[in-house]
Amino acid sequence: AAPLVVAVSTSISAKKGLLIRNRTGFEDARNLNAIVFDKTGTLTKGEFGITNIVPNNEYTEEKVLQFAASIEQNSEHPIATGIVQSAKDKGIELRKVTDFESITGKGIQGQVDGQKVNVVSPRYINNNKLNYDQQQFNELSEEGKTVVFVLVEDELAGMIALADMVRETAKEAVATLKEQGIHSIMLTGDNKKVADWVAKQLGIEEVYAEVLPDDKANQIKKIKEKGWKVAMTGDGVNDAPALATANLGIAIGAGTDVAMETADVILVRSNPNDVVALIDLSKKTYRKLV
Ligand code: ADP
Ligand code: MG
Repeated sequence: AAPLVVAVSTSISAKKGLLIRNRTGFEDARNLNAIVFDKTGTLTKGEFGITNIVPNNEYTEEKVLQFAASIEQNSEHPIATGIVQSAKDKGIELRKVTDFESITGKGIQGQVDGQKVNVVSPRYINNNKLNYDQQQFNELSEEGKTVVFVLVEDELAGMIALADMVRETAKEAVATLKEQGIHSIMLTGDNKKVADWVAKQLGIEEVYAEVLPDDKANQIKKIKEKGWKVAMTGDGVNDAPALATANLGIAIGAGTDVAMETADVILVRSNPNDVVALIDLSKKTYRKLV
């Protein structure tokens, strides 16, 4: 009878918006102790809008945005989409870019009008000991805004702050999981202050921020070493190593191809609350088998 039950659950799962790619991972869903969530694009919508541009030295807001948007045209990160859209809305002409390079979890680089331009994370700025207005940076971050830095020829041209929106369904998911005794954890490449702000909105108490892609996977390993069964939920290229390491990898349907190809289950509706439906279905399916 087993294959029949499994076949039935496949059609039910499709109706619920769950695409099951690997049944071993799906089976583990019924025994989870913790679910780790990526922040950007998973717990949040990943639809960034620019809220502030803070130019440095002789640069203007327009110039900072033009440099940033020109190279962000080549990136598929949600930050990139927000910056490019904002430049288009403002009628800013985008320049031609050569030598584009993306450094996952850190930022991007390219040549614009014969000058080297970077758009990078606060971590990159701190590692390279560049000066910036820390007070303004802190104020923006504490409001939950993601701040990126625009460098021209290795000098700071300005900061760009972007705001994303928390998914209401993520809040529901965290609350329901808690009732079921499943622990929610946030793992993000973004800044600590932004991460804490989002975690507070959602009721998540355990937060790891400024984590590079390989360290996301290491963090999952550590949780497994406690003897826990853990799921990872993510959308980005930066989440792929962690999705592969977890007992159950769950990708957001609106995310990148890399995340979906690595995951065991895809949430077709991009709704974090479907994680709860996934656990229910796993319990129902495998209860019948034993
Ligand atoms: P998350 O875990 O929130 O999805 P990532 O690991 O993708 O974050 O990125 C971490 C940080 O690296 C971002 O918060 C940003 O500061 C920087 N970053 C990554 N990609 C880009 C990009 N295309 N443009 C600017 N900054 C970027
Ligand atoms: Mg993400």
